[in-house]
Amino acid sequence: MTARKTGCPICGRPPDPKFRPFCTKRCADVDLGRWFNERYVVPETGDPDEDDDAPGETDEG
Ligand SMILES: [Zn+2]
Repeated sequence: MTARKTGCPICGRPPDPKFRPFCTKRCADVDLGRWFNERYVVPETGDPDEDDDAPGETDEG
């Protein structure tokens, strides 16, 4: 039975001690960007102050 080591969470390759647990700085940046984007998730666009003044349907004819 071979001991399965945890690889890079991004690509699964063996991690580099310099960028643990990632294999490269690139992968580290990718992971960082992922959770960073989640923090800045755009809120729902539901403004209660929305004033939509619809004139209605004009029935001509
Ligand atoms: Zn990687």
